[in-house]
Amino acid sequence: MSLALYRKYRPSVFADVIGQEHVTVPLSNALSADRTHHAYLFSGPRGCGKTSSARIMARSLNCEKGPTPNPCGECQSCKDLVANGPGSIDVIELDAATHGLVDDARDLRDKAFFAPVNSKYKIYIIDEAHQLGPGAANALLKVVEEPPPHVIFIFATTEPEKLISTIRSRTHHYPFRLVPPGILAAHLEKICNAEGVTVAKGVIPLVVRASGGSVRDALSVLGQLLAGAGVDGVSYDIAIQLLGFTDGALLDDAVDALAAHDGATLFQTVDRVIESGHDPRRFTSDLLERLRDLMIVSALAETNANTILRELPDDQLERMRNQAQRIGAAGLSRAADIAAQGLTEMRGATAPRLILELICGRILLPIGDTSESGLLTRIERLERAENLAPMSTQPAVPVRAAAPAPQRASVPDFVAPAVAEAIHEAPVAIKKETIKAEPIGSMDISGLRRIWPDVIEDVKKRRRLTWSLLSASAQILGVDDKNITIGIVNSGARDSFIRSESDVILRQAFIDVVGLDRKIEMVVDPSINPNTPQARATRVDEAPGDETQLSGSALLARELGAQVIREK
Ligand SMILES: [Zn+2]
Repeated sequence: MSLALYRKYRPSVFADVIGQEHVTVPLSNALSADRTHHAYLFSGPRGCGKTSSARIMARSLNCEKGPTPNPCGECQSCKDLVANGPGSIDVIELDAATHGLVDDARDLRDKAFFAPVNSKYKIYIIDEAHQLGPGAANALLKVVEEPPPHVIFIFATTEPEKLISTIRSRTHHYPFRLVPPGILAAHLEKICNAEGVTVAKGVIPLVVRASGGSVRDALSVLGQLLAGAGVDGVSYDIAIQLLGFTDGALLDDAVDALAAHDGATLFQTVDRVIESGHDPRRFTSDLLERLRDLMIVSALAETNANTILRELPDDQLERMRNQAQRIGAAGLSRAADIAAQGLTEMRGATAPRLILELICGRILLPIGDTSESGLLTRIERLERAENLAPMSTQPAVPVRAAAPAPQRASVPDFVAPAVAEAIHEAPVAIKKETIKAEPIGSMDISGLRRIWPDVIEDVKKRRRLTWSLLSASAQILGVDDKNITIGIVNSGARDSFIRSESDVILRQAFIDVVGLDRKIEMVVDPSINPNTPQARATRVDEAPGDETQLSGSALLARELGAQVIREK
């Protein structure tokens, strides 16, 4: 591959910048109306198109027919400033990260007043602008404050709050965002087609997830996959080999396994962390950070979590919401304590892997932990089991599922003996010993769990009822060469699932998304918390009776209610 994909498919006009319409549309309108400003600030995460957009802005301003959002492509300036073109003497790019920029800034201050050589505007693109030293910033400020009419500044930065405020306040600020998974996936598919390489089902979602919403990272990963493609294109095997070992994927696998109380997979994941050369200390510190994020997700309502964890793409946030619900607030807090303590123990330790495994073991086994947080975790699990047990026999199910989460604050002292007794009877205390977590070729259970949200999305397109049964109250427990085992919240939901022949739908979704054809086996798994926001949410605009308008919980409630009546 002669040219990296990110460079090869770099856009030259705003219409080709993906996922940033909230920025590119108003900028295009300003260009059309000739209402441009003399200083712009493009902020946002790395790899989302800030620098590309700065160059497009320069091209749009300096086109002979400009300013225009549709540069002609014919004039000298358009040819010079096309993506991967030779560049223009009047468009000056400076990288504040590699220079102190003090000398450059003084030089710029002196030269800015000279007219552009060939173009309408002299445009300065200052990348990593937050790294401008104070001397450079002050030198620039003079020009930004009183710019000659032919000078335009475009500052690009990942950290706009660090740009000195006297400069920032003189710019028009455009925040770029991570690209939503659906848009990024469509873009990647288009590129695969253009490159003439076939890509197996399930590969693109893996790439999207590994990129975390950064177009540059996504194209870099895709480029590597395409470079290693065989005659049949890129197989899922190759992709999982490469992408199953990224930091994010390993972290997701570990937390998914924690949430499912699945020790086998958790220790396999630790094994993969070590085998793939990751530093156990780094992994533990990433795990601690993830647990912190999950606590934020768990503590805050949907919109607030979105604001605080705004670097996260929506699908990842949704995934974390699900993980947080399954582990529970007390479980998260306790796991974070254990991880933090383990991280301290790791300092100077000769066998950090051993300590990482101990951390995992401690988090998995709240039984025997008599600290307050250990008790709270046990109570949390019991409450879930208690909520679940009567569900299939009482008509009051929907009401119960809709009730607010129980208060936990004053429980531990007097409940503790009952906990010890009940824990032997509670269904959650039964370990999933019967379910194997051995890898099936490369399609192991971690791989399947990673792809599960995509499978659910596919199910949603096929039948809403099946989706509603699965979305908040089911998880993958096992896979072998015959079956995929799905745990579902209670026997009522399982029966509905089977009676409605939803297994056919789910099986087809697995075939379509992952290319894996297995019989679907449903078992009851009470460790799933039914009090998820998805399970509780009931939209006000629902029209009863119209199935397509009903939320998942409403459908589920109706289905369970109907079943109870039939059984009477
Ligand atoms: Zn032109």
